[in-house]
Amino acid sequence: MNELDRKTVRAGSCPLCGKPVDQAFKPFCSKRCADIDLNRWLSGVYAVPAKEDDDEDGERPPESDADERS
Ligand SMILES: [Zn+2]
Repeated sequence: MNELDRKTVRAGSCPLCGKPVDQAFKPFCSKRCADIDLNRWLSGVYAVPAKEDDDEDGERPPESDADERS
């Protein structure tokens, strides 16, 4: 068992590539991974989809209670 290894694990690993985190780029291992994450943000991967509020007329299709008997 390697104590250094355990320390590294405790410090955390990059969520993108799993490498040890660099304090300068927490929680990533490098600027590269930080950039990748930033790109994901910018491309809207993490964006919460805008809620469409087109339920104003509150009309819902009648529930089909057709009981299929065979
Ligand atoms: Zn990384």
